Amino acid sequence: MNKHNFSAGPAILPQEVIKDAAQAVLELDNIGLSLIEISHRSKEFIAIMEEACSLSLKLLGLENKGYKAIFVQGGASLQFFMTAYNLLETKAGYINSGTWSTKAINEAKILGEVLELASSKDKNFNYIPKGYDIPNDLDYLHLTTNNTIFGTQYKTLPDTNVPLVADMSSDIFSRPFDYSKFDMFYAGAQKNMGPAGVTLVVIKESSFNKVSRVIPSMLNYEVHAKAESMFNTPPVFPVYTVLLNLRWIAKNGGLEGVGAQNDKKAALIYNEIDRNPLFEGFANQEDRSNMNATFNLKDDKLASVFDPLWNQANISGLKGHRSVGGYRASIYNAMTMESIQVLVDCMQEFERKA
Ligand SMILES: *Cc1c(COP(=O)(O)O)cnc(C)c1O
Repeated sequence: MNKHNFSAGPAILPQEVIKDAAQAVLELDNIGLSLIEISHRSKEFIAIMEEACSLSLKLLGLENKGYKAIFVQGGASLQFFMTAYNLLETKAGYINSGTWSTKAINEAKILGEVLELASSKDKNFNYIPKGYDIPNDLDYLHLTTNNTIFGTQYKTLPDTNVPLVADMSSDIFSRPFDYSKFDMFYAGAQKNMGPAGVTLVVIKESSFNKVSRVIPSMLNYEVHAKAESMFNTPPVFPVYTVLLNLRWIAKNGGLEGVGAQNDKKAALIYNEIDRNPLFEGFANQEDRSNMNATFNLKDDKLASVFDPLWNQANISGLKGHRSVGGYRASIYNAMTMESIQVLVDCMQEFERKA
């Protein structure tokens, strides 16, 4: 493929993952059948699901620590509700760091008392809230580790004994982190993990049976965990593609390896944003995301000069979200240093031309 894909999601995957996934649709591992026409209860697919769950925990450093990895459908958006359904008995705390956090708050409110402990809405979510009080009688504290739209990311976690729950849709598997600080986290696959259609949930087994309400089976984490993510038919193609991507991460040094690479990639783009007098970064410097770099033109009228440059350089998906404007370079795991350099070259050519 000849485009440099900066899309925020669904997003770039490693070329070899896409090739191997395409091959498996034609024929899975020389078994004479396609991946998408075999039973999910076949020994081949059971092995795929088992490896996807165990490799997820292994990469996250959570093997043998009382966690279960499960794959469910409905996107991260269903998790906004499902989290509260399974964990919210009395009251929960939420940090509002962007559009997705706001949605999570609104869904949780359907089920119980929700305290918005802090928000960065006052500055159009260009920073991560810090220095707020956390009551110690909360069922859990929910945060969004990476704010895909605004380009902010938690670098450290709030210090609390309250169980932490997180939406990690756009930065899961992107960096080494102490994932054991969380009781539960979830991520829709289509940002940094695989194709749309599946969501990874990682949950402590001690978090089951926390609420008095009756939980419908499909919304019950324990049901999915006990059924090894096979309570109903799982989305076989997304799960397999996620597995290929997890193997790619393992081959590239695990989270240490991809994390170091992601640091270098982020430095390349942010250095240019800061150096180039025609641009300004959107997010607070100390909260900048390693996954989504948001930036604006100081003079919007110059878009007519800049936009043709990156379009001609085969760059795709660079337009910022409508709530921020400007540009957003999503630089997930599979994004290469070379593609970011192409963008940086365009920014420098723009500086010479404008
Ligand atoms: C994209 C995104 C979502 C929404 O995911 P869906 O799978 O479309 O429901 C939620 N949270 C974050 C942080 C996201 O980036």
